[in-house]
Amino acid sequence: MAIPKITSAEFSLSAHRVEQFPRGDLPEVAFLGRSNVGKSSLLNALLGRRKLVRISARPGCTRAVNFFLINGRWHFVDLPGFGYAAVSRTLKESWGHLVLEYLNARPNLAAVVFLQDGRRRLGPEELFLWEFLTARGRAVLPVLTKADKLKMGERARQLQHLAGALAPFGVNPPDLTWFSARTFEGRDELWSRLLTCLDRP
Ligand code: GDP
Repeated sequence: MAIPKITSAEFSLSAHRVEQFPRGDLPEVAFLGRSNVGKSSLLNALLGRRKLVRISARPGCTRAVNFFLINGRWHFVDLPGFGYAAVSRTLKESWGHLVLEYLNARPNLAAVVFLQDGRRRLGPEELFLWEFLTARGRAVLPVLTKADKLKMGERARQLQHLAGALAPFGVNPPDLTWFSARTFEGRDELWSRLLTCLDRP
């Protein structure tokens, strides 16, 4: 599957409340992960734009859900990164009400790209969110970021560990996409997975 030419990628809006989510029935994918996981870099790499995401996500708006309109056809949704200290209860209270509401009820949501730093282990927040998403039947695409920082041996070990941790959620090792915003490794593979979800009739 060829990756699409991005003819337009523009910031649509920042939602702070459910009522502000865009109406209409454009299919969308959401991008979820811990702060600093490489989410903005991945979005810019996918879209071939150097600063689209950083520019739009103004400081102080980090808890908003940011919508980007791509090729006039899809929304890419940048969810706020979750933090280091939170566990599930705190996650619900401090970070997540708007995000969990979005993930739970958004009818347009075709898939969630779940980013995981390829060097790290899953924390309680990731496990909570994987459970939350799979319990609701959401399609989740796991992506391992910063692939360029791992040697081949480390990759094999991490892949085995992460695939094991995600197996209870129906994830198999080939479902995990290594991604690097430095080398663009994984970009075509991720696009192809995204298109399968976005263009599903
Ligand atoms: P966000 O907080 O999840 O949006 O993460 P950013 O995209 O802002 O990236 C956080 C840090 O990780 C920055 O210093 C990036 O330069 C770095 N980073 C992001 N992606 C990659 C990658 O693929 N490879 C490497 N080596 N560094 C990355």
